[in-house]
Amino acid sequence: MTDPIYTPVLIVGGGPVGFALALDLAWRNCHSTLIERDPGTATQLLAKANGLDERTLEHLRRWKLVERVEEVGFPPDHPGDTVYATSLNGFYIGRSHMPSARERRTPEFTPQKRQRCPQYEFDPLLANAVKERRLTNILYSSVFERLEQDESGVTATISNAETGELSSIRADYLVACDGAGSRIRQQLGIPFVGKMLDFSLSAMIRIPHLELKPPMSGGERYILIGRSGAWAVFTSVDGRHIWRITVVGSQDRLDASTYDIGADIRRALGSDDIPFEVLRLIPWRRSQCNAASYRSGRVLLAGDAAHTMSPTGGHGMNTGIGDVSDLGWMLEALASRWGGEGLLDAYDIERRPIGLRNARSSTANYEVWVQNGDYENVFTAGATGDACRKRIADFFVKSLHSEWNSTGVALGYRYEGSPIIIADGTPPTPDDPSDYIQTARPGHRAPHAWLSDGRSTLDLFGREFVLLCFSRDVDVARIEGAAFDLRVPLKTTQIDDSGIATLYERKLVLVRPDGHVAWRADQVPDDCHALLNTVRGAKVIPH
Ligand SMILES: Cc1cc2nc3c(=O)[nH]c(=O)nc-3n(C[C@H](O)[C@H](O)[C@H](O)COP(=O)(O)OP(=O)(O)OC[C@H]3O[C@@H](n4cnc5c(N)ncnc54)[C@H](O)[C@@H]3O)c2cc1C
Repeated sequence: MTDPIYTPVLIVGGGPVGFALALDLAWRNCHSTLIERDPGTATQLLAKANGLDERTLEHLRRWKLVERVEEVGFPPDHPGDTVYATSLNGFYIGRSHMPSARERRTPEFTPQKRQRCPQYEFDPLLANAVKERRLTNILYSSVFERLEQDESGVTATISNAETGELSSIRADYLVACDGAGSRIRQQLGIPFVGKMLDFSLSAMIRIPHLELKPPMSGGERYILIGRSGAWAVFTSVDGRHIWRITVVGSQDRLDASTYDIGADIRRALGSDDIPFEVLRLIPWRRSQCNAASYRSGRVLLAGDAAHTMSPTGGHGMNTGIGDVSDLGWMLEALASRWGGEGLLDAYDIERRPIGLRNARSSTANYEVWVQNGDYENVFTAGATGDACRKRIADFFVKSLHSEWNSTGVALGYRYEGSPIIIADGTPPTPDDPSDYIQTARPGHRAPHAWLSDGRSTLDLFGREFVLLCFSRDVDVARIEGAAFDLRVPLKTTQIDDSGIATLYERKLVLVRPDGHVAWRADQVPDDCHALLNTVRGAKVIPH
């Protein structure tokens, strides 16, 4: 084996989470190396994530990628309704209305609305953005084999997927973004705690001609209901000809080589005569698991390597992108030597509860899907059948409201009890999956408001700590002086807008590079060095 190559951060896994981390680091002018076992990105049609939530869009706004997502994403005029039906050619049961991307108003609490963008478009989009920044060494066909770590770094052994040749990479930090089956998590012996929900299958399908008439038309997804309840979801992936069918799974592992997905597709279409082509069939396991720790020494876990959740809600990838948005600035702070080791403990303390929270919310949605109910007359014509279908529609529309409206999950997470956040004793806002209440309470995402120059307050955050100052009476020189002494990048921004001042509630609000509030008060503290030492993780916390 040749001498190891050196990199400050080694990212293992080139899925959306690995590339999002590489991008965030590159955006912060940090070098990294990303290894991926496949020969390229999205080399096969991924039958996975479709939805980017508001928080992911806010990160994409920072990385200047929103327009690219809009270009490759879903047609802006395609309705977003979820239709409940026995099949696409069968009994219509009801619908949850959701306007098209064009009709949907951007909520007042964010500059970005959620977007549909299939993962087979999103992953290459991220990968290309990383390549353009030229700070990431991307090594495809490179398989992580094992690691060893000591006090000063991590050495990873890599094999070439084609030749089997071994090499090694030495890194200050290694981030495992290697998916749900994470070899790294297993090698470190970190328990993956939770429960198995079912075994499922998803197929990507091309249907050249599918004409649906009202009331069946206009769905972005169709939840298909039979006598034993919801059995599949049929989703438009590109708003045109590509669809995905996902079967609500079974307790037994499904064997893709023998499974008759064609029969399911014909059952979903309600017809044997509509031509279709199965592009890809993927068996997968639905589970709700969370790593017992997101950190082991200099190794961090992120994305599906750290947590799995049912796709009911579309939170898996979004949560992973949230992980690395927390981690990116911390790794940069450590690389630039203004951050302390306490940041890495904080990463675990901040993100692990969020993995758990989002997974619980996803399972709650899944439980609605598989709930026993009275479906006996779902195929019966006439008044008896109509009454049954109305009951089913009412149940699903009400119970799945938080699956289709999950802004609270996307934006309302908060870093309670973090050692690098200074709590101010105010009570938390309710943590509701659908309703989001903006607050500048420490630990929460700093609120969005439009500034007089047309920017969002969120556009102020990202590269450094930002001290928002809503009063001309406070002298922040001592905080700025402490930041200078400790080499903490800090920018003070004066905002003379009473509406935004009311939203932020204090005269001084310190926002971290990831856009979360670290501290707020009406006065400069006595010990400004202590304040900054806390938020930069300089206090060493035993692990
Ligand atoms: C049907 C379905 C629908 C979904 N819908 C949504 C949705 O709408 N919204 C949402 O947010 N999420 C959704 N998800 C979840 C989402 O797809 C995952 O959460 C996301 O892909 C996780 O990204 P990741 O980068 O952490 O892991 P992965 O996407 O699994 O990527 C891991 C990468 O690591 C590589 N790798 C693994 N082992 C090694 C190794 N030893 N060496 C080198 N490379 C390695 C793999 O090849 C892979 O490229 C859905 C999932 C499914 C199954």
